[in-house]
Amino acid sequence: MSAPVPRRAETASSAGAMVPTLASAARGRAQTAYRVFLNHPQNCADCAAQRGRCEAAQQLWDTYRQDRG
Ligand SMILES: [Zn+2]
Repeated sequence: MSAPVPRRAETASSAGAMVPTLASAARGRAQTAYRVFLNHPQNCADCAAQRGRCEAAQQLWDTYRQDRG
């Protein structure tokens, strides 16, 4: 009675929790880049002047697109 009995429920939940690390890291970067991109125009005179994406905003967008895959 000393041996621990493996529970099927725990095995199933740990298997379901497995997430590709690289994919989730890239996705996290993409989400961060997208958030910065959305907030960027509020603090950018260039974006306000040209009512569009300035060079910095375009780079943020490119980062988001690349990390999103
Ligand atoms: Zn800008």
